[in-house]
Amino acid sequence: MTSTPSHLPGAAFLECTATGETFESEQLIGLSPAGKPLFARYDLDALKGRFTPEAVAGRTSSLWRYAEVLPVRDPDFRVTLGEGFTPLVSSPRFARTLGVRRLWIKDEGQNPTGSFKDRGLCMAVSRAYELGARELAIPSAGNAAGSSAAYGAAAGLPVHVVVPEDTPVPILAEIRALGADLQLLDGLIGDCGRIVRQRCDEDGWWDLSTLKEPYRVEGKKTMGYELFEQLGGRLPDAIVYPTGGGTGLIGMWKAFAEMEALGWIGSERPRMFCVQSTGCAPMVRAWERGWEDAGMWEDAVTYAAGLRVPGAVGDFLILRGIRESRGGAVAVPDTEMQEWVDRMGAATGIFGAPEGGATAAAVPRLMDMGLIGAGDEVVLFNTGSGLKYVGMEPVSSGAASGS
Ligand SMILES: *Cc1c(COP(=O)(O)O)cnc(C)c1O
Repeated sequence: MTSTPSHLPGAAFLECTATGETFESEQLIGLSPAGKPLFARYDLDALKGRFTPEAVAGRTSSLWRYAEVLPVRDPDFRVTLGEGFTPLVSSPRFARTLGVRRLWIKDEGQNPTGSFKDRGLCMAVSRAYELGARELAIPSAGNAAGSSAAYGAAAGLPVHVVVPEDTPVPILAEIRALGADLQLLDGLIGDCGRIVRQRCDEDGWWDLSTLKEPYRVEGKKTMGYELFEQLGGRLPDAIVYPTGGGTGLIGMWKAFAEMEALGWIGSERPRMFCVQSTGCAPMVRAWERGWEDAGMWEDAVTYAAGLRVPGAVGDFLILRGIRESRGGAVAVPDTEMQEWVDRMGAATGIFGAPEGGATAAAVPRLMDMGLIGAGDEVVLFNTGSGLKYVGMEPVSSGAASGS
């Protein structure tokens, strides 16, 4: 097994995703002065020809196999619980059910805390730890809080989480068991975010909110590198992704650009499809209406906790990825997500989260819209384990509300 080199150069600088302004990477920094997300940029020219699929092939089965394009410099600060490099499961019977040539499920439920939030929080916590943060905080609809609690515990840093009071019970139990300071709120994730923001300003907590620090997206982007490796050195025709804050979609889109700069791929890209609930579909509305920003969704309701994000700070980046890839966006009712969780389970052996069921529910709709065809090779993202949602009931049914 070839090991990853130690004491890597990390990111060369940070760049504002809206203005292109650049910033020094070796500082704790949240949003850019323009109030937009920052991206870590690497010296990819220097890595070209050295950081190759062949060099990575025999490395550790976690996302740390891509260490050269990750921000943590000193290996002592890699906080790891075995995150990433999840199975890409081939599902021929489910492909026949859905009527596509080839179907894969990226089973993110097999991450340490049962959701793909581990990828992002592993990276954000590791990097905050390396840069000297003392206390961490996060508002969450559920899974991100569990991941933060886990990686905070692994690093030995205190974590404060603020979540809506109707967060799934298994997730609350997990947060408590992992030793985090838990605050329940009668409100949505945006309300939780305001409380966290205030305590960060007053008490010096470090805010791990989606895209409000530069590194969760770096952890999530590894899904793009993994797809390429696990498909034997190519990318699929279509990726169907359940979208809340959009870190994963934005991250994979970033990864593909890096992979092209590194010479791993050419200009080909998968078509990126965003799936939301009819009870909270700001990206779908913006895509349908040709908007560049999504704005806020009023009265967001869905039992898919990861999709209950009425306003996303990275909305323009999600919409850019969907449009540049010639993909699309579609909303499905909670009741259909639940149906498709069962159909996916019976056809594949994977007990998915409602968000995973949503990706399957989206395929017939996307085929009706002519956006996915029978000849396509499709990857569905099951972003979490169904076990974390036991006891939760569908909320939205029928057509989109709130628009
Ligand atoms: C957070 C979450 C999502 C949405 O992910 P984003 O990258 O923030 O869009 C989807 N599924 C699950 C299970 C989640 O926890």
